[in-house]
Parts: sequence; C-alpha cells; structure tokens
Amino acid sequence: MIKIEHIGIAVKNLENSSELFSKLFNQMPYKMEKVESEGVNTSFFKIGENKIELLEATQEQSPIHKFIEKKGEGIHHIAFDVEDIETEMKRLENEGFILLNQIPKRGADNKLVCFLHPKGTNGVLIELCQEIKE
Ligand code: ZN
Repeated sequence: MIKIEHIGIAVKNLENSSELFSKLFNQMPYKMEKVESEGVNTSFFKIGENKIELLEATQEQSPIHKFIEKKGEGIHHIAFDVEDIETEMKRLENEGFILLNQIPKRGADNKLVCFLHPKGTNGVLIELCQEIKE
C-alpha cells in the first residue's frame, strides 16, 4: 500500500454535509459524483495530500444506508492507494483477509476499488484503490 488515499464519511444529507464541510475546510468540494454501482452520491475535498469523501445513500439497499441505520453518521472507511490492485487483492486474500468483491469494481473518482470485510480488520472497513490510467 502506498498511502492513505481518502477517508470516507457516511452522511444522511450530502447537500447539507457538503456545505458543513466546506465551512470546516474553507473550500468547496472539487468533485461531486454519483456511483450507481454502490447506490451513493459522493463529494470530494482535497486537504493537502489527502482527500475526504462524503457519501450519501441514494437507495435503501445502499451499504451507506445500512451503515447509518446501524451506527449513525460518521467515519465509514479508510481507502489506501495501491500500485496494482489485483496483486494486492491476491496478497491480502492469501494473508487471510476477506475481500468483499473478487473482481475490482469501478469506484468514484476514477478508481478501481476493492473493499475488505471489517470483520477481518478490527472493525475498520478498508478500501483498496488504484487510479485508472487511460
Ligand atoms: Zn471511498
């Protein structure tokens, strides 16, 4: 893993939270994006080297909806940049971590992503992400 790419925060209302975090960071989000496959709307802030991703559910089946029902709003996942996502997925699977998807998915912000089950990581949802180079 190269570095923390972003921290994901689950919110109930993206518009309100984007406004709130804009005040906190004293800057507007650089990107707002709907991720159909995950049932979420997202907005991204850049804080120096790091990013903050706000996530709002667009449907009841969305993992974000379920997360907020169970735990309320708050930090949802930590995402790490990887050089080669497939190699890293194989390595982690061999180490006994549980991958939530066997094939990298297209995530927000031009990334291929894979999540690790929080059961195997002390309750922390980990996202691996690799920039899509086109
Ligand atoms: Zn993320």
